[in-house]
Amino acid sequence: MNIPFNQPHEHGPELDYIRDAIHCAHLSGDGKYTRKCHELLVERTGAKKALLVHSGTAALEMAALLIDCRPGDEIIMPSYTFVSTANAFVLRGAVPVFVDIRPDTQNIDETLIEAAITERTRAICVVHYAGVACEMDTIMNIARRYHLYVIEDAAQGVGSSYKGRKLGSIGHLGCYSFHETKNVICGEGGALLVNDPAFMERAEIIREKGTNRSKFFRGQVDKYTWVDVGSSYLPGEMTAAYLYAQLEHGKEINGERRKWWNMYHQALEPLEKAGVLKRPCVPADCVHNAHMYYVLLNSLEERTSLIGKLAEEGIKAVFHYIPLHSAPAGVKFGRTAGSMACTDRTSDTLLRLPLYYDLGAEGCRRVLKAGFGVEGAAES
Ligand SMILES: *Cc1c(COP(=O)(O)O)cnc(C)c1O
Repeated sequence: MNIPFNQPHEHGPELDYIRDAIHCAHLSGDGKYTRKCHELLVERTGAKKALLVHSGTAALEMAALLIDCRPGDEIIMPSYTFVSTANAFVLRGAVPVFVDIRPDTQNIDETLIEAAITERTRAICVVHYAGVACEMDTIMNIARRYHLYVIEDAAQGVGSSYKGRKLGSIGHLGCYSFHETKNVICGEGGALLVNDPAFMERAEIIREKGTNRSKFFRGQVDKYTWVDVGSSYLPGEMTAAYLYAQLEHGKEINGERRKWWNMYHQALEPLEKAGVLKRPCVPADCVHNAHMYYVLLNSLEERTSLIGKLAEEGIKAVFHYIPLHSAPAGVKFGRTAGSMACTDRTSDTLLRLPLYYDLGAEGCRRVLKAGFGVEGAAES
């Protein structure tokens, strides 16, 4: 029996909700299930507004449009992230300015941000890697002093929190992903969280092709028209119906994943003590969503051999990211601010272990045995 890296889980009501959406005869966006998702997201996160979009990428693109990102603007971000973090701003002609990450959380090193600020800096786009929060108090403080926007790429952070506040609800705008590889999923999907009330009305307009159609549907205007730039960012109702079933089970999804996360973490402690690897670090004031379990090996060679060892047992482990600052498009569109030593090292040595709802204690034990020669504890 092979152990895949990721596997979607059906929680039960997905098909019923999709069938209901079909029977409601409203298949385009912003119907019953989209509204239910919006309400649930606002209730759970404390955001002023939540808007479903068709991907985490789309949420980031909307954020770039909302802050009126223009050619030549600089956006501070980590290089150790998915391409969409940078692309959203590059599409507006802005320059991603890459700052190194912390060696413990793999998040942007908040102590290096200030040195990267110039007269052209418009925003800081933080990425909560593995659903573990960036040092948001420090970052929000810097942003206030320099009048910058903070956009949270919380694609991996649905359900996580920082000092009791949900990730995505702390900066001016927050971006979620419901891609199949995340915790709560709908295939392709995402959400934009609007926390700064100044963006509330325009966010609706940009999402609806630059029209005031949302106001029209609420009966606030008697016809709708083209009022601003925009695109089509909303998902259809069948996607929203699937997502609603998953959101309802959000706590359970993260809880189940946490069991396997904890099992890995406990079993690998002696190896960390022996200097064989490093385990993820979760700062005391952060609650994470068990999105990802990774280990940091001592070298690229050790990682390559571990991937091979796991593959021999039919276990799929993967690494990411090629740092954006050294990717062809990163070289062309962005620039670095300072050394990228931690980014480069993490990129060479980080390995993600299989982690999904149905992994189970047995799957977890098999990964631990095959990869590390250690026994996992019984399920607690
Ligand atoms: C998954 C992810 C995205 C993109 O989300 P999609 O829904 O796939 O577009 C963006 N940023 C980060 C950090 C991600 O992990």
